[in-house]
Amino acid sequence: MSSQLSQLPVVVIGAGPVGLAAAAQLADRGLPFLVLEAGDGPAAAVREWGHVRLFSPWRYDLDPAAARLLGDAGWVRPDDDKLPTGAELAADYLQPLADLPALKPHIRYSARVVAVTRLGLDRVRSAGRADTPFLVRLTDGTDLHARAVIDASGTWDTPNVLGAYGIPAHGEAGAAAYLENALPDVLGRDRDRFAGRRVLVVGAGHSAANTVLALAALAEQAPDTRVTWAVRSSSPTRTYGGQSADALPERGALGTRLRQAVESGAVTLLTGFRVERVRVDGDTVRVSDGDRTVTADRIVSATGFRPDHGITGELRLDLDPILGSTRALAPLIDPNEHSCGTVPPHGVDELTHPEPGYYAIGVKSYGRAPTFLLATGYEQARSVVAALAGDWAAARDVRLDLPETGVCSSDAVDGDSCCGTAPEESAEPLPTAPLNLITLGDSPAAGQAGTCC
Ligand SMILES: Cc1cc2nc3c(=O)[nH]c(=O)nc-3n(C[C@H](O)[C@H](O)[C@H](O)COP(=O)(O)OP(=O)(O)OC[C@H]3O[C@@H](n4cnc5c(N)ncnc54)[C@H](O)[C@@H]3O)c2cc1C
Repeated sequence: MSSQLSQLPVVVIGAGPVGLAAAAQLADRGLPFLVLEAGDGPAAAVREWGHVRLFSPWRYDLDPAAARLLGDAGWVRPDDDKLPTGAELAADYLQPLADLPALKPHIRYSARVVAVTRLGLDRVRSAGRADTPFLVRLTDGTDLHARAVIDASGTWDTPNVLGAYGIPAHGEAGAAAYLENALPDVLGRDRDRFAGRRVLVVGAGHSAANTVLALAALAEQAPDTRVTWAVRSSSPTRTYGGQSADALPERGALGTRLRQAVESGAVTLLTGFRVERVRVDGDTVRVSDGDRTVTADRIVSATGFRPDHGITGELRLDLDPILGSTRALAPLIDPNEHSCGTVPPHGVDELTHPEPGYYAIGVKSYGRAPTFLLATGYEQARSVVAALAGDWAAARDVRLDLPETGVCSSDAVDGDSCCGTAPEESAEPLPTAPLNLITLGDSPAAGQAGTCC
């Protein structure tokens, strides 16, 4: 690396949990860095789902280097066994981390990255790429130079569409005013949009389950609220999960409450419902799967997320054609193959692209695989930063400390293995795997298998 390049900072895109973990690792190793965050504070995406409780207890939600830096500054570590909400994760860990003197001067808020390229080179030019600084452009036109780029920008801003086949349903764009993305705060700040309305929730993952239950609770306070829940699967059993057999009581209780809400009639369940068409009709919206039509006042589209590779379009990325992760990582996380197996430890080697010095980490690194874990992201950050520091022994010594609480312990749900693949039946199931394995509600396209993790 040229000396000009080595003096430039490592740019980290995103001050979410994994971007801040990378910052802590960079601070720990004394490498110059700059974190660019689109939001007006740290953990902008996490704060949007702040009303939701994580499935992973605190012990798996903290990056070790970050916890060490915080501990040195007198921070009191939360109870390892408690499950924080997103708001608590942000307030009790990520905000204090971002405010540490070792990090704060190196984080810029309201700084959205719109493009990353090489200074003076487009994607076609080969000569000297490794010795050429990255150019990182912000929305306000500012150009910054970097020796490496760690992209931890997540997937929260790019939700999947409502249409069941991976493309928008007919009329979806025209019905945007009636559509909500995943995890509105139904009982809190967004209550007025839902109270007394007919609401259709689409999706079968953790996000959908949370929203359906919140709406059922709202219906007890505002009796005119009507809740319809549509899943592509022919049965909701995977979404109900292991219930009382679940290794995690709280997660099991979610499935039990969901089943009770459906069986009591508080929630109308539509199985095998693949959204094809959406039509605005006066003040309402009509959603059809070709055979059946649901009339609603609001739709919550809880169909998962996908990565946005647009900002790195001028870099040489070798993306897996299905998941959009690196090709090396894809077989380790492919939900068609690894529905509930543990994700093997991985780091810089699996995250390397042909473009030297660019790494996507965190939930973005998984592309459309719905099983990302904070603990995995923290290990990615540690490994990548060690490699950038030239410490290849540490970079390649990848480890993952995941809880062994019985992967697939609830795999006999109605005789169906939770690890089984059931292409037509498996739209974004709820997690039933180890303590900190969760599903974000990504919907594998029709014909793909789902995952239970
Ligand atoms: C409801 C929910 C519950 C979850 N529960 C768990 C759990 O229990 N356990 C677990 O291990 N994982 C859980 N996850 C999964 C995962 O750990 C989280 O999604 C986590 O927030 C991912 O961290 P991240 O840093 O990769 O991305 P994010 O938290 O999404 O952070 C990305 C950051 O980048 C910023 N950004 C985006 N684009 C740009 C840009 N162009 N320029 C600058 N900044 C940008 C965003 O504003 C954001 O602050 C959960 C996820 C959700 C949605």
